[in-house]
Amino acid sequence: MNSQTIRALLLALLTAAVALPLGYFTEAGFGWLLFSGGLALQLAFHLLYLSRLEHWSRAPIADPSLEGEGAWDGVFRRLYRHEKELRAQIAARDHEIAMLIAAGQALTDGVVLLDTQYQILFCNRTAEDQLGLKVVTDRGLPIVNLVRQPEFMAYLANEDFNTPLTLRPERNQERVLSIYVVPYAGNRRLMQVKDVTQADRLDRMRRDFVANVSHELRTPLTVLAGFLETLQEIDVDRDERQRYLQMMAEQSDRMQAIVQDLLTLSSIESAPPPESTVVDMASLIDKLRRDAEALSAGRHEIAVEIEGQGDLYGAEPELVSAFANLVANAVRYTPNGGKVTLEWRVLPGGAEFAVRDTGIGIAPEHIPRLTERFYRVDRGRSRDAGGTGLGLAIVKHSLNRHQARLVITSKPGEGSRFAARFPPERVAVV
Ligand code: ADP
Repeated sequence: MNSQTIRALLLALLTAAVALPLGYFTEAGFGWLLFSGGLALQLAFHLLYLSRLEHWSRAPIADPSLEGEGAWDGVFRRLYRHEKELRAQIAARDHEIAMLIAAGQALTDGVVLLDTQYQILFCNRTAEDQLGLKVVTDRGLPIVNLVRQPEFMAYLANEDFNTPLTLRPERNQERVLSIYVVPYAGNRRLMQVKDVTQADRLDRMRRDFVANVSHELRTPLTVLAGFLETLQEIDVDRDERQRYLQMMAEQSDRMQAIVQDLLTLSSIESAPPPESTVVDMASLIDKLRRDAEALSAGRHEIAVEIEGQGDLYGAEPELVSAFANLVANAVRYTPNGGKVTLEWRVLPGGAEFAVRDTGIGIAPEHIPRLTERFYRVDRGRSRDAGGTGLGLAIVKHSLNRHQARLVITSKPGEGSRFAARFPPERVAVV
């Protein structure tokens, strides 16, 4: 029994102690009246505070006006303190939950929490974007109602989550997602969605590259092996033998050119950014013109156009090889009697080296793919012209390393223009 209860009892006893002698010495009815009046007063007092408590308990907001007297004072104080502590705890917990949600939102992977029926409990913004979900409207809905791709539905239905599911979302087929499902809190599921588009692209490029290299080398190797077999097995006369050897040398040159271009490509890919020096453009263009004349052997008109004054900051060997590639292509893909023009322009917004030709031109659908390794518009024509299909890939890489862009404009049957555009900081004004 606590002190407040003892106090209430004592008060009742005190009323009895006063009413009893009074009733005894005066009238018994008066004593009873006094006793019941005292008890009634106490009861009214308690009923008043009970009704306050009842009112407060309906909406127990932290209400400092909840003050009582006597036994109620302690009760109200404790209740009030308890309520305040509870509110503080709830606020702290709310804050923690908000922080956890914020952390979930900050994840670069998509996260979806699912209940035992695969209904959405939560998903972060990344998952909303990846799977086309909207947490405010989709919470509580089965995820298979929203991501309706058969492979996704089958993956969840099979419940074999040892290997992730690779999914190309219907709404964005360019994207590749890797979906992992992990059980948590008993039968609930956490779905982690990784965007593996870039890794998938690199993987495909690597596979294509290996397949392409093998294919490119296999053709000349097969030809070489064929000639060797013929020469070993059949007695051929001297002229025929000479012809075979000539063709074998051509195939071996081709393989050498491919391997050389592959080595160049891999060296510029792995090497640190090139050391820059001032490249004298006038003498470089003069050298390129002489190379073009030698390659053309009089079959084309070679011209030079220069506008403005300035040189380039860059790695000379890389720039020479990139520009020479463009010049060689222009000569190769321009029929006899055509014209190849080397342009060098220094303008306020930067500088441009371009090679313009009146050659066969390129259809628009091929232009964006020309700098891919081994991409050719006409495989046979490129091979006959001694091309490896790697030239423009090397050019693009070298230009990237100089913050330059390759801009290709072309019209089939009319000619092409390959321009290397350099930013102003690469221009050395003379
Ligand atoms: P290749 O060794 O085959 O010339 P490149 O990477 O240098 O390889 O060029 C890729 C393809 O781009 C060529 O096969 C050719 O189809 C096309 N191409 C390049 N330059 C020209 C040009 N000046 N005119 C027409 N087509 C060109």
